[in-house]
Amino acid sequence: MEEKREAANFIEAEINKDIANHVYKNGRVLTRFPPEPNGYLHIGHVKSICLNFGIGKKYHGETNVRFDDTNPTKEEVEYVNSILEDVKWLGFQWKEPVHYASDYFPELYEFACKLIRMGLAYVDDQTSEEIHDTRGDLNHPGKESPWRNRSVEENLKLFQEMKEGKYKDGEKVLRAKIDMASPNMVMRDPVIYRILHATHHRTGDAWCIYPLYDFAHPLSDALEGITHSICTLEFEERRPLYEWCLQAFDGEEKPRQIEFARLNVTTMITSKRKLRRMVEAGVVSGWDDPRMPTISGIRRRGYTPESLRMFCDQIGVAKADNVVSIAQLEHCIREDLKGKAPRIMTVLDPVKVVLTNYPEGQIEYVTLENNSENEEMGTRQVPFSRNLYIERDDFMETPAKKFFRMAPGKEVRLKGAYIVRCDEVVKDEEGHIQEIRCTCDMDTRSGTPGADRKVKGTLHWVCADTAVDITARLYDYLISPDDQDDGRDFMEKINKDSLTVLHSKAEPAILDYKVGDRFQFLRKGYFIIDKDTTEGHIVVNRIVGLKDSWAKIQKKQG
Ligand code: ATP
Ligand code: MG
Repeated sequence: MEEKREAANFIEAEINKDIANHVYKNGRVLTRFPPEPNGYLHIGHVKSICLNFGIGKKYHGETNVRFDDTNPTKEEVEYVNSILEDVKWLGFQWKEPVHYASDYFPELYEFACKLIRMGLAYVDDQTSEEIHDTRGDLNHPGKESPWRNRSVEENLKLFQEMKEGKYKDGEKVLRAKIDMASPNMVMRDPVIYRILHATHHRTGDAWCIYPLYDFAHPLSDALEGITHSICTLEFEERRPLYEWCLQAFDGEEKPRQIEFARLNVTTMITSKRKLRRMVEAGVVSGWDDPRMPTISGIRRRGYTPESLRMFCDQIGVAKADNVVSIAQLEHCIREDLKGKAPRIMTVLDPVKVVLTNYPEGQIEYVTLENNSENEEMGTRQVPFSRNLYIERDDFMETPAKKFFRMAPGKEVRLKGAYIVRCDEVVKDEEGHIQEIRCTCDMDTRSGTPGADRKVKGTLHWVCADTAVDITARLYDYLISPDDQDDGRDFMEKINKDSLTVLHSKAEPAILDYKVGDRFQFLRKGYFIIDKDTTEGHIVVNRIVGLKDSWAKIQKKQG
């Protein structure tokens, strides 16, 4: 019995139709994710991965990973490994083994010979310029090559000689014999094999002819028994060629190409080539710089796989190009972390506070909850003493209107502890604040009857006597969310001030955490301990601040 599944999008609706029409045996579904190993994966690939693997899972099918390594001069093993790691981290498992288009070079060669025998392919001696110049344009048909009508025997012989290395790069190509007058330019006798005397990262020097993607892809899909070959919209006009190439394949079940819209996210560049330029130019520290829209960068930044999958579920799958706001992605990580990340107090940009009436040398412990939205996470004891730190911007000597934090003569509550009043500001000769001197109202400790007294502001703080020094990295977007395409090269638009490094003070609880752990710093955002942490010094990345502009946008939209 075939089980009925509600289609979540138009692709699943197509799959449901194929199942109803018994297009594939027993309603089987096999999808694939086909990256070119020429860089690290980015946020756009997350969508493709979630879509392909999501469908595989939903239809009790499976998903292959196939590296499109038909371009011998570019691919690198480093990229292959990073791509596999990213897929796994997102929570998906491909059907073993991992595939490579290069696995099929022998079969693809045979398919090409078959097309020649069917009279559907020919060896062309024209140069690539000549081929380009005779393609015609949308208003004019192309010109047929003088070599287009070679005999099958001659074509087979020449193609074999190409394979045997008799010719130099570019001297000959194999072209599909379709229609030089086709209104679809893609169908004007596209090149399907070229000569390249280059060493391939997997097949070495075994081959000096390489199939083009448009030819290799449909036939690799067919060889693996892929049912639904899901790709981005720019391949739509190539679908007739995809189907045309499948003529070389005898199997009963042929794969079917379905296109969907690429994911674009504001502030994020989604092109491996562009990302590589950024890495090579050194504007970021590497592919996994926490500002990068690569999966490895997003992971290091502190995003969870759950938050990325939630994001993909929310944005859905459409057939029209669109741009998603970065605020929506940030909303997802906040949603995921709010109930599970423990909260601690860290002062990012510290200024010293002395409670002049508080006994010197005394340390007391106040009780704070680990997550106010999740009681199960319990409480912890936080040291408090005469010497504290607060945020520099939580103090204003001449307070602006509606500034309810610390100011001379004003009272504020220190979170979980006491109400204090600022009496005096001590400055150095240049006018920089050295310390703020306050009086502590000893009757107002949180949880005691005296705590009832209302004051307007509550500040987070860290006890200076037990504080842990940490380095905090705050990030801004590499590209402005308001960026308009104004014709400038993206490299000119990159925000050079996108990284701020702060020397911060954390409560000792931070020592209980290890690299990769995430928490909320009260009032300051979500953070993760970075791999740059050493034995004696913790380094954290800010994943995202606390202000949720996306939730606001949604509320407005009702
Ligand atoms: P890039 O231009 O970054 O290299 P690509 O499309 O060339 O992207 P591939 O490695 O060929 O990258 O892509 C693997 C799969 O991921 C393809 O099926 C492709 O359609 C899909 N993909 C790539 N970019 C996006 C995107 N922005 N949104 C959705 N899917 C994408
Ligand atoms: Mg590509």
